Amino acid sequence: MEPAENNHPEEQKTLPRVVILATGGTIAGAAESGTEAGYTSGKMGVDAMIDAVPGLTALADVRGEQVASVGSQDISFAIMIRLAGRINELFAAGEADGIVVTHGTDTMEETAHFLNLTVKSQKPAVMTGAMRPSTAISADGPLNLYNAVAVAADPKAEGRGVLVVMNDRIHGAHSLTKNNTTSVETFLSPVNGLIGTVIYGKTAYFRGPFRKHTHLSEFSVEGVSSLPRVDVIYACADMPADLVECSVARGARGIVIAGDGNGNMNAATIEAAAGMAAQGIVIVRSSRVPSGTVSRNIEVDDDRLGFIASDELNPAKARILLMLALLKKRSPAEIQALYYSY
Ligand code: GLU
Repeated sequence: MEPAENNHPEEQKTLPRVVILATGGTIAGAAESGTEAGYTSGKMGVDAMIDAVPGLTALADVRGEQVASVGSQDISFAIMIRLAGRINELFAAGEADGIVVTHGTDTMEETAHFLNLTVKSQKPAVMTGAMRPSTAISADGPLNLYNAVAVAADPKAEGRGVLVVMNDRIHGAHSLTKNNTTSVETFLSPVNGLIGTVIYGKTAYFRGPFRKHTHLSEFSVEGVSSLPRVDVIYACADMPADLVECSVARGARGIVIAGDGNGNMNAATIEAAAGMAAQGIVIVRSSRVPSGTVSRNIEVDDDRLGFIASDELNPAKARILLMLALLKKRSPAEIQALYYSY
């Protein structure tokens, strides 16, 4: 007997192929009970995570790969480089229409920014995570994963750089930052605003990212196995200036100051940092303030002292841009230009 014809063409529609690259984090975390605050990150494997989301396979042809199993406080540049390499490989081989990376929220913004600078495709690469472990009452992971797959499967997400989907919001990698230690509404994009929303898989976009990213980025992880050391020094009242010297003595080629206000630091630290800048150490002024930009020559004479202003990037992201920038010889003016472009 001939096989029966399918009279429901919509059932034959090919689903977009979405690969989920899991790295651990609270989304895969497990606690002793549903109300236990203490838990261990990265306990659940990617297949169990996929199985825990009803309706996921109706959105996309989904498969998972375990790239790492760590809380994101333990995400290393080795893992970030591996992730970027795998995403580039999957897209270049035409094996995925979209990719979701599951990740802890602590350093999500850093990996998102790193991937935004090193993924070489316009196809959607979307990160997600959870604030509550998989065993918690009202765990947020399954809906976040559902929404992330919906965005990764959505052609309208293409060309918007690396996106982060959490709690119904679509953030751009450039702008998002973790803002609350426990709330499910932890991510904000305070400088440039949200890219869009995704409600039970239904997407809406308000804007594209404004800065260069992914296929337009000049940075690459091709042949890169490690990155130059760049330290972040947190500015505070009466801070000791010798932190700058300690960093350089330990091998830092650049220092990001998480400055107070508009990237400020006390006079002693300015003097120590200027001494280092004169020796070719790159000094970037960012801010410990969660919102706003850091501009050149406001209270600090960057032109005279040879400092760089981080513009829109917070200290953690300013550090990542500088680490990638230092893979090549660049003048301070060229490095400053990068902070205005990315
Ligand atoms: N420390 C955990 C992590 O980043 C907690 C944050 C989370 O995943 O929500 O993996």
